[in-house]
Amino acid sequence: MENIRHLEENIWQLDLKVDNETEFVAPYLIKAGNSFILVDIGPKVGIPELERQLQIMGVNQRNLKFIFLTHIHLDHSGGLGTLLKNFPDTEVIVHRRGVPHLIDPYKVLWQSSLDTLGWVAEMYQKPDPVSEDCLIAIQDKTFEINVDGLEFQWIETPGHASHHFSFMMMDKKIMFSGDSAGMFIPGLNDALVPTTPHPYRMSSGIESLNAMIEYKPEKIAYAHHAIRPNADLLLKKHIDQLESWKLCVSDCLKKGISEEEAIAKEISGVDLESGRLFSASEDFGGLRKALVGSITGFVHLINQE
Ligand SMILES: [Zn+2]
Repeated sequence: MENIRHLEENIWQLDLKVDNETEFVAPYLIKAGNSFILVDIGPKVGIPELERQLQIMGVNQRNLKFIFLTHIHLDHSGGLGTLLKNFPDTEVIVHRRGVPHLIDPYKVLWQSSLDTLGWVAEMYQKPDPVSEDCLIAIQDKTFEINVDGLEFQWIETPGHASHHFSFMMMDKKIMFSGDSAGMFIPGLNDALVPTTPHPYRMSSGIESLNAMIEYKPEKIAYAHHAIRPNADLLLKKHIDQLESWKLCVSDCLKKGISEEEAIAKEISGVDLESGRLFSASEDFGGLRKALVGSITGFVHLINQE
């Protein structure tokens, strides 16, 4: 069961080895009483592997009660329509603004993914539409749900995406932060790096990090790709990191350095953890591409100011 990691008493991580990369797309599986919850599900290309792992874990149509989506980017939700064909009774909790894109992914989601991600979107594959009946749309900035005795509190955390939610598993105070608190890469000596693709909204992003800090989480469950203690320190460290990136990218632009790879070199000089991913081997191709995309987010942000 090399792809399935048991992280906490009732939490597993299912590494889908998308594009043969480990530590890239790895949804969490939570057991609540006799029910299961999936936290994000990965892109369409990962669904056969996800279904195989769910079967190993004893997850079936009757006990997979919920899918909690942090946001609808393809690496988190692209496989939803495909998976739900075999799990017709599972309910999906998602930000109201994500709903139209799940129901009709071809209108905006697929094209914008191709524009932003290029070959990575093709590799993820084109999502299948999702039936509206499966979706529970969160209308407010917060939301609570109790699943078989396990309590979850949701908190809107825009920045990375305008429709992003994080949620805290209250008994263990684990904050599932999706992509709103960066990516954490154990395979690169515990590198914490930004996830700020265009259109990144930095002021909302920082507000979201501060809002999460107020919930006093003990651990963070990063969508990419680990659960770590010292949540408070990591969230604060990430705020500093975002500010240092902004400073560095705006210095680059002032000096006439606008090419992403050249900016990556400059960032590597001030942020050693991001530097580790920028200089990583091909094994981290998808994550590296995402980090280069984070530079693009800052370039747009600064040019718009
Ligand atoms: Zn992601």
